[in-house]
Amino acid sequence: MISSKQVALKPGDTVGILGGGQLGRMLALAAARLGLKSHVFSPDPDSPAFDVVQHCTCAEYADIEALELFASDVDVITYEFENVPTAAALALQARRPVLPDTKVLETTQDRLSEKNFVNALGIGTAGYADVTSAESLRQAVKKIGLPAVLKTRRFGYDGKGQAMIREGDDLDAVWAALATRSAILEGFVPFEKEVSVIAARSADGHVVCFDVTENEHQNHILKFSYAPAAIPAALADEARDIAAKIANALNYVGVLGVELFVVPGANGPRLLVNEIAPRVHNSGHWTLDGASVSQFEQHIRAIAGWPLGNPIRHGQVTMTNLIGDDILDYGKWLTMPGATVHLYGKGTSRPGRKMGHVTEVKPHK
Ligand code: AMP
Repeated sequence: MISSKQVALKPGDTVGILGGGQLGRMLALAAARLGLKSHVFSPDPDSPAFDVVQHCTCAEYADIEALELFASDVDVITYEFENVPTAAALALQARRPVLPDTKVLETTQDRLSEKNFVNALGIGTAGYADVTSAESLRQAVKKIGLPAVLKTRRFGYDGKGQAMIREGDDLDAVWAALATRSAILEGFVPFEKEVSVIAARSADGHVVCFDVTENEHQNHILKFSYAPAAIPAALADEARDIAAKIANALNYVGVLGVELFVVPGANGPRLLVNEIAPRVHNSGHWTLDGASVSQFEQHIRAIAGWPLGNPIRHGQVTMTNLIGDDILDYGKWLTMPGATVHLYGKGTSRPGRKMGHVTEVKPHK
């Protein structure tokens, strides 16, 4: 295995990106702007990231031969999604540095180990309990109380693999419907706001956080981000400190997103960590047009062994996700004064599918 400290790309070198969605596409575009090439590996022939790179491999993540060929063509490997199969990660890291280190995935692919890790750092989360059967769900409900949210430990996103449980619900039915053998029950957090911090960490341990972002979801999917979040400055500092502490404890190299709940407390609002995303994050898309360095560029800089940027925000920024049929309005957005439109080049829109986003920046006076 090659240490992250040894990575020092030169312009013209190639970044390998696992995953071909919009995040991979925007990473590849950021790499290109810095004079780097990208090679995208994805099993989906319609990957939006394939459209913006010259080198792509369309193969399954279980295809070790294809992974090895991919690795031999690149100088460093990164990923745009957290569910990279362990066998794929091992095959790749035997040949090229993989950043962030795949050990990070063990912590973040599993909601229980992630929550244990965050709590061990002295950072708060919702109360939680391990659930492996209908009987243990009953025990968990006694411990955590209701309302609560039952979540699969793995492979959940955008509200998938989750069930809200209220007083009087049939626990056997809820457990059967989740169709899993490993879940956690989380206490329902009566949050005031949801915020996130996008942090970048370089191999030498330098951490740079973007301004805290406020996030609004619709149907469990991010719809709007606002930067900066309308929260007290001390709370914003605390949110950034939490993200930095997490990045340091993971010995992280690259960009990560930390989602937090702002909850009312007797002594003012408090923060609880909801989730860590070991990758660039939708709530950081505003940085593409709203800051001097984007989250995608920061990630590429970090994994290339280059200095991180010191992002300066250009003003009050709003990011609107174009989800499903929202994409049909792209003509309206194209003529909206001050709007910057990003379309991901995905063929067909489906309900809940992220098709693009728009950034609007209200400049500082
Ligand atoms: P997650 O997939 O864990 O990020 O959850 C998706 C969304 O569901 C979050 O952004 C919240 O809006 C909501 N949510 C998740 N967990 C909780 C919780 N414990 N209490 C309240 N709302 C939650």
